[in-house]
Amino acid sequence: MSERKMKFDVVVTGGGSAGVAAAVGAANAGMRTLLIEKNPYLGGAATHSSVLTFCGFFTQSDPYEQIVGGVGEKVLEELRQLHMYREPYRNPRSGNVIVLLDAEATKYALDQVVLASGAKPLLHCQVIGAVVEDGAIRAIECYDHTGRFLVEASAFVDASGEADLSVLAGGQVRFGDEEGQVQASTLVMRIGGVAPHADLARNGFTEVIQQAKLNGETSLTKEKGMVLRLPGSQDVLAMFADEYVNGLDSSSLTEAEMSARRQAWSYLRVFQRYIPGFENAYLGQTGPAIGVRETRHVVGEGTLRGEDILNGVRCPDAVARGGWPVEIHEKGAPAVYRHIRDKSFYEIPLQSLKVAGIRNLWCAGRIISCDPVAFASARVIGTSFATGHAAGVAAAQFVGNGVSDVQAVRKELIRQEALI
Ligand SMILES: Cc1cc2nc3c(=O)[nH]c(=O)nc-3n(C[C@H](O)[C@H](O)[C@H](O)COP(=O)(O)OP(=O)(O)OC[C@H]3O[C@@H](n4cnc5c(N)ncnc54)[C@H](O)[C@@H]3O)c2cc1C
Repeated sequence: MSERKMKFDVVVTGGGSAGVAAAVGAANAGMRTLLIEKNPYLGGAATHSSVLTFCGFFTQSDPYEQIVGGVGEKVLEELRQLHMYREPYRNPRSGNVIVLLDAEATKYALDQVVLASGAKPLLHCQVIGAVVEDGAIRAIECYDHTGRFLVEASAFVDASGEADLSVLAGGQVRFGDEEGQVQASTLVMRIGGVAPHADLARNGFTEVIQQAKLNGETSLTKEKGMVLRLPGSQDVLAMFADEYVNGLDSSSLTEAEMSARRQAWSYLRVFQRYIPGFENAYLGQTGPAIGVRETRHVVGEGTLRGEDILNGVRCPDAVARGGWPVEIHEKGAPAVYRHIRDKSFYEIPLQSLKVAGIRNLWCAGRIISCDPVAFASARVIGTSFATGHAAGVAAAQFVGNGVSDVQAVRKELIRQEALI
């Protein structure tokens, strides 16, 4: 262990959408805050797996309603300043309301939002251990190429997407659903050289993929995927190459990355050959990493239930809102959707963000405490911004008071312009 040691009020593990929001929320509540991310940029799946559409900022009703504000809105505002966002896009086929993203603008916007808050970002750094005393984390162990070092803090947020910190601290987690099954992972393809007139309607792709499979293209999986034109370029995003992977295990991930790349090249060949406007298409990028939808879920002091979210539950201890439909992905199959009542929103209680058994640890994003149905909605990026913001403010409240009173958390979230 190196002599290097740091001390903060609040430390956030993971700089995806949830972690960014947690760090900014804690810093804006007046806390000295550290945000630790192992990648060279913030954004998590959005930037590292090219998930370039924010879902969950808006209800799916007509007209739609914005349900995530606060830190999430600050990110949208930065994207507006970069001329990469004006208004959400309603998919004419599904009716879903989303924000289309440019990857570089998203990385830069997240940098700006974090820096403006005063939180300290630490990229290229991995959390690898936790020192727990009397049921609370006293410090976490981190690793960069100088070696291992400790970071002490009074409160922590696990926004690692894999519940790394919760496990390292001895918290209870569940892998996948009750049977240990996870949603399928997908390697996102960014395709350049697509003619402006190319028809991106889903049926055209489905027909050529089915025909290619009949002609012996054996590596293709999904027939009904999503193809979207990205803002700021002529590139399109294509989500087809599905894999089942254990996203915690490097052997499983290695196999999945290589198999998915084989799929990506096969899809490209098929599109070049059979889709008008794709004759000169090329693979601009995959990933970088395969997009892993699901690994571990934290066991919290409360649990968000599918039945409740589908009924658009309201609760007095609400600290965030979710409005994305339940969306389930099985390998090779089209996504299955179930809408929230009236295509409106549900509320998320603070207890589902509180890690059970560890006094000073909250969780956020796709690992919050929920059942498989609730997870299939609450995992999306807009909702992750909302739960991250709430977890960061809850951790900040704990620093001053040794407890996190829900009404005080709600008051501070409202002061920070969260929509709750
Ligand atoms: C293929 C695919 C398509 C999707 N499509 C959409 C979509 O269209 N729209 C949408 O809104 N959502 C979509 N989702 C869901 C969404 O991307 C995720 O659920 C969301 O990104 C979760 O945010 P998060 O911050 O919880 O986790 P992540 O985005 O996974 O971020 C976690 C971060 O923590 C870091 N980290 C992990 N462990 C450590 C550690 N030990 N030390 C330091 N850093 C660590 C990681 O590097 C990562 O940056 C999709 C997901 C996938 C996989």
